[in-house]
Amino acid sequence: MANYMTLNDGNRIPLVALGTSRIPAEKIEGCVKIALDMGYRHIDTAFHYGNERTIGKALREYMENSNLKREDVYITTKLDSCYMEENAVVPALDESLRRLDLEYVDLFLIHGPYALQTLHHFPEKSPLVSEFMPVDLRETWKGMEATVLNGKARSIGVSNFNSKQLEYICETARIQPAVNQVEVHARFPQKKLHDFCKSRNIQLEAYCPLGSPFFKGSGLVNAIQSSDNLVEHPIIAKFAEKYRRTPGQILLRNIVQRGIFVIPKSETPRRIKENIQIFSFSLSEEDMKKIDELDNGVRRFKLSHYDGHPNYPFHTDF
Ligand code: NAP
Repeated sequence: MANYMTLNDGNRIPLVALGTSRIPAEKIEGCVKIALDMGYRHIDTAFHYGNERTIGKALREYMENSNLKREDVYITTKLDSCYMEENAVVPALDESLRRLDLEYVDLFLIHGPYALQTLHHFPEKSPLVSEFMPVDLRETWKGMEATVLNGKARSIGVSNFNSKQLEYICETARIQPAVNQVEVHARFPQKKLHDFCKSRNIQLEAYCPLGSPFFKGSGLVNAIQSSDNLVEHPIIAKFAEKYRRTPGQILLRNIVQRGIFVIPKSETPRRIKENIQIFSFSLSEEDMKKIDELDNGVRRFKLSHYDGHPNYPFHTDF
């Protein structure tokens, strides 16, 4: 299996990215450099994570001290909910690029469909909750298209969109979204949304691919699943033994084998390393089906602070 896939715009994307949300500030630089050492060529960040500046510094230093060139690395960042008015999108990406010290990003995603009141400045870290603001997602999408047309983003897409919201922007889009980054793991495999995206040639990208086993952020995550640690699940442990891999590698391989790319987060060097070593084995069809049976339809990230927003995405089936 190749370590890349091709998006609907012809651009290639590495199948494994380092997820960087919640890596502590003092560790982020080291983690990015370790990941690059281990062969990662895709880093996932966002204005919202407050780490673009440090990631940019780590990348720059790494490139200065190695043969790695800008075009060898794939960088994803995201449009914050505070810049979703059409005219705010290009300046928001410009600000991310300034922090990242880059001339372009490979992938620029709308972080979520829930617009917040537009900020006309750029604080160091975006506020988690602000006033809800109704914005027509087609307007935001026009702003996203402008970032491709001005050469600052190679590919554009969305995150946390449901099928109806995707359909809505696709109907009038001049550039179709290439990616939808959503929660995907063995407990919540997003089969229907995946089928929908496949039918539109939109690539699904899995956040929380390990089920975010240790995260307990109040209000953000589903309490039922907080006590359900996929990495310790007996079926996953059994397959880890059978394939002589770790439980994390089984969970990630399962998703990648479904044709979905993954962004595991780790701040632990040993795990950063194992999370990219998933291309030298494959799970049998029968074992893939056994993992399918773990689906309990329970979403881990409820994003409940956006519940009540007219564009809150998780009240529909998919
Ligand atoms: P995750 O990657 O499923 O889980 C991360 C957790 O698993 C960390 O606590 C990590 O611990 C642990 N871990 C990592 N590798 C492991 C392994 N091989 N075995 C056992 N445990 C392992 O969940 P996530 O961090 O929530 O999501 C990943 C990334 O997706 C984020 O960093 C972010 O970039 C992105 N994301 C995007 C959105 C969005 O709205 N678009 C939402 C959520 C997340 P250590 O760090 O201690 O190793």
